[in-house]
Amino acid sequence: MNKMTIDDVKLKSKNVLVRVDFNVPIENGVVTDSTRIIESLPTIKKILSEGGRAILMSHLGRPKGKPDAKYSLLPVAKKASELLGIEVKFASDCIGENAKKAVASLNDGDCLLLENLRFHPEEEENDESFAKELASLGDIYVNDAFGSAHRAHASTEGITKFIKPAVAGYLMQKELNYLGKALENPVRPFTAILGGAKVSGKIDVIQNLMNKVDTLIIGGGMAYTFFKAQGFEVGNSLVETDKLDLAKSILSEITNKKIKFLLPVDCVIANEFKNEAQKQIVKISEIKPGWQGLDIGPETIRLFSEEIVKSRTIVWNGPMGVFEMDNFATGTHEIAKSLVSATKNGATTIVGGGDSAAAIAKFGLDKSVSHVSTGGGASLEFLEGKVLPGVAALTNK
Ligand code: AMP
Repeated sequence: MNKMTIDDVKLKSKNVLVRVDFNVPIENGVVTDSTRIIESLPTIKKILSEGGRAILMSHLGRPKGKPDAKYSLLPVAKKASELLGIEVKFASDCIGENAKKAVASLNDGDCLLLENLRFHPEEEENDESFAKELASLGDIYVNDAFGSAHRAHASTEGITKFIKPAVAGYLMQKELNYLGKALENPVRPFTAILGGAKVSGKIDVIQNLMNKVDTLIIGGGMAYTFFKAQGFEVGNSLVETDKLDLAKSILSEITNKKIKFLLPVDCVIANEFKNEAQKQIVKISEIKPGWQGLDIGPETIRLFSEEIVKSRTIVWNGPMGVFEMDNFATGTHEIAKSLVSATKNGATTIVGGGDSAAAIAKFGLDKSVSHVSTGGGASLEFLEGKVLPGVAALTNK
């Protein structure tokens, strides 16, 4: 990576302004999943242990540009205090007198969390004077919020014009190293597995990855648009009719590439979209009118898994079926297990954020693959080959 990192700067007695992604679920004032906080602890601990003053800033939810108690980061300050074992102070606004006073009261080794950035509409508007005000709170800027790096907001992009150096934190570095190496310099064979609901959300990923991988596997709901484009009966399965021509052109483009391309050969169909629906395993050519494909079938699991365990680099984005319903979670679970086997064989296995991360966590296998990305949208845009504004804005080495 040609960007400066937190290891390249002196932190002692500095006000270190850190953009973290603390957009965590909160119920009744209590954080219910601390993963994102835990993932940023190495960066925060580094600052504190070197005698820097960590000033953390984040967004939480979509408060529509004005203060809303429902989206306050106060419960996150409590959780972060528990996890760090020191009091994380809290400022009830991210700019203005309140924030300035809170920053001025910090001693070396202290930690402060600023209130939700999105209580100000200027954050998402990437407003210059707002970015300047945020920047005035720190001497050094660290971006550890990979999950927000695909957005050019004041705290991720605009701010870097007013505070230098702007460096990557450890989580940001980890994400970029895993995803970057997979795309730029993968150990081969390199396999990508794409799933999830819609082709439309993954077109750019398919187009970018078909030039990089040795094997491309497509499962999940998006496969049915391809089946329909191939002329199969797909019943009530998820199909984007406005994307059929596109699916046809992707199919013919892939055929011209020297890569292996796998679609499901069988599936689990249901007579209704619910966990207790009647279900049957059928070949793709046998999907019945009125029924819908909600998972990949056993023959497909075998086919995909054989390919996965032979690979040395694997990127997975999107579930193979409706994994939220236990009766249609088998395909996604089995593919997750194949990734775990591949990891044990020495492969680098990367799971994109969002639903795939939720799925692998549901099966308790998230610690058994090389890397689970913390950023759904950001990892998707990275896989599309796009430059993430929050990364581009960091200071070059
Ligand atoms: P995405 O956000 O595009 O990655 O899609 C994730 C969603 O796709 C999950 O909520 C899954 O339940 C859903 N999904 C996966 N396979 C299917 C399918 N065969 N039919 C309908 N939805 C599906």
